[in-house]
Amino acid sequence: MLKVHSIETFGTHDGPGIRLVIFTQGCPFRCAYCHNPDSQTWNNPKAIELTAEDIIERLQKEKPYFKNGGGVTFSGGEPTLQTKELLPICQQIKQAGFHITLDTCGGIFTEETQQLYDLCDLVMLDVKHINRDWHVKLTKHSNDTVLKNAHYREQTGKELWLRYVLVPGWTDQDEYLKEWAQYFSDFKSITKAQILPYHLLGVHKYAELGLDYILDGVRAATESDAQRAKKIFEKHLKAVEIA
Ligand code: SF4
Repeated sequence: MLKVHSIETFGTHDGPGIRLVIFTQGCPFRCAYCHNPDSQTWNNPKAIELTAEDIIERLQKEKPYFKNGGGVTFSGGEPTLQTKELLPICQQIKQAGFHITLDTCGGIFTEETQQLYDLCDLVMLDVKHINRDWHVKLTKHSNDTVLKNAHYREQTGKELWLRYVLVPGWTDQDEYLKEWAQYFSDFKSITKAQILPYHLLGVHKYAELGLDYILDGVRAATESDAQRAKKIFEKHLKAVEIA
């Protein structure tokens, strides 16, 4: 059984086409800007459990809407935290003929996660900072496994999208934006790099959960912030978009 935080039907922001998005429960990272802090811990009384059959039944119902490359996206939380459960689920979904996207922070790298990557048609990897120290400051984890996962995907030659949350003062430094884009400039598997401007929509959840919000006082990223980052990325990468 897969432990799930929430489900979104007809999602249009998490992979190609229209998608069923399954947000799994639990995450090894603690990102300063996480807009779903209640998905981070394993214990959430509101979490539900789904079997492969439950998911395939939903997919069959939504199939008519998947014409433009749609399908299912596993997002989080962090889906690879439940790789043992996800592997057989994804095998069955593949057999049923649906496109699978894995939206991951890349925080876990094992033989099993490599098998999971192989099963997924598309991996969307969040590379939250190229600088190791800043990555630790931002997520409480280093970016070592994140970069390992990027290289693994490149080695398999299967499709990879990169995602980057642009946070004023935290992830928008010119030198690191350049380094981030340069790092991936030779990757042939990357078909898209998405910039996600930081917003304040999830901030109220921290107060509701009695948690401190580390980015208190940090402003949302503007259109001009995003355009500036896009220009820097575009010097080294193709198909950069602001999501
Ligand atoms: S990886 Fe995603 S779910 Fe996990 S803490 Fe970061 S933003 Fe939240």
